Amino acid sequence: MKAILPLFIFIDACGWEIIKDDRFCSVFAPNRRRLESVFGYSSACVPSILSGRWPDEHRNWCYFVYDPEHSPFKGLQWLRWLPKAITSRRIVRRWLSKLVKAQLKFRGYFDLYNIPFKHISLFDFTEKKSPLRPGGMNRGTNISDFLTQSGIAHHVSDPTRSEAENYDAMLKDVKTGRIDFGFVYWPELDGLLHREGNQSPEISPKLRGYEERILRLLEAAKKQYAEVRLYVFSDHGMANCDELLDLKARMEQLPLEFGKDYVVAYDSTMARFWFFNDRARRTVAETLRSIPQGSIVPDTELERLHCLFPDRYFGELIFLMREGVLIVPSHMGERPIRAMHGYHPNTAHSYAALLTNQPELPDGVTAIPHIYDLMVRDALLAQEQNRSPRPPKQREKSPAPVFCETPEPTLAFPARVAVADIRGE
Ligand SMILES: [Zn+2]
Repeated sequence: MKAILPLFIFIDACGWEIIKDDRFCSVFAPNRRRLESVFGYSSACVPSILSGRWPDEHRNWCYFVYDPEHSPFKGLQWLRWLPKAITSRRIVRRWLSKLVKAQLKFRGYFDLYNIPFKHISLFDFTEKKSPLRPGGMNRGTNISDFLTQSGIAHHVSDPTRSEAENYDAMLKDVKTGRIDFGFVYWPELDGLLHREGNQSPEISPKLRGYEERILRLLEAAKKQYAEVRLYVFSDHGMANCDELLDLKARMEQLPLEFGKDYVVAYDSTMARFWFFNDRARRTVAETLRSIPQGSIVPDTELERLHCLFPDRYFGELIFLMREGVLIVPSHMGERPIRAMHGYHPNTAHSYAALLTNQPELPDGVTAIPHIYDLMVRDALLAQEQNRSPRPPKQREKSPAPVFCETPEPTLAFPARVAVADIRGE
């Protein structure tokens, strides 16, 4: 029997507001803490959890940026001539995304979302590698680099598989006792919340299903490990979207030309602008200040949120919606969606959650990048204690450490896959 299994279970969008009045995991992970999320979408939150750093350090923030020089999409401009009734359909976009991803050899998650083909050659895509894979961050290292370099036998979910498949795969490895670290990723709750909203009657049964799976993992682990250090956590919550804003229409009324005076990336909950002259900068800022559904995020605030980029790579001006307001249409989706995340991290439904069976959590664990510190701490502890000398006979039988992650996980981490079907992510 081994000494310790650190088991980290990542449930996408299982925010504090979702579980605070629910008994979720209270039997086997009674110690709960609300965590601050990272400003941005999963494209920012997940890399922050995996690296222990913030967007201004790792530079994985928003997917699309104005960068015509490096745009890999120049060959797609001809698609602008196809009828919008075809090219704006999700099924067509998904199919095209797969083709483009294969052609451009992107290793992470990729989706064309709703970027207009007329302008797509102005944009670059910032997540060409998978943030979960060794070397997958835009800058710096991640947990996979750490585990690989430290020689720690681990199992990490493969986001190209379904939740059930990933559960089975983890259960199998836990039963063998071969691993010294486990990381499970379950994205289905995120998809459910996007579709049905945060008051859906389907949430409770989904949480009960997760509890059952976790319990079975714990029972299996107890046969191989003296202690399971369990952490169930999320990256953000989910806010219902009760108000829509057609920001694009407002911008198109201005005496400015997209691509000549300015460029904007319309995410679901924010718009990021780049300007090519002062008139455009002034006119857009004045217009935005007159829109009560959102506000321009000052640099001081972006800096506090660790999302200020001195080179303005992700946009010169960030206009953020009030919680519950959705930009429709946006470059993330043509049609409305019931609920979304990506609002200010201090709004109620942005907060993430951490649930554990450990009686003590360091005081410094207050935001989702700090989950990385727990992963590293416990992986090292398990590595050290699981290597304690055992009787020779038993040692002979022990298999060599096995690295269970897929050799070429196509992950942009975790299956934003499920979310992408819906949009926004
Ligand atoms: Zn999502």
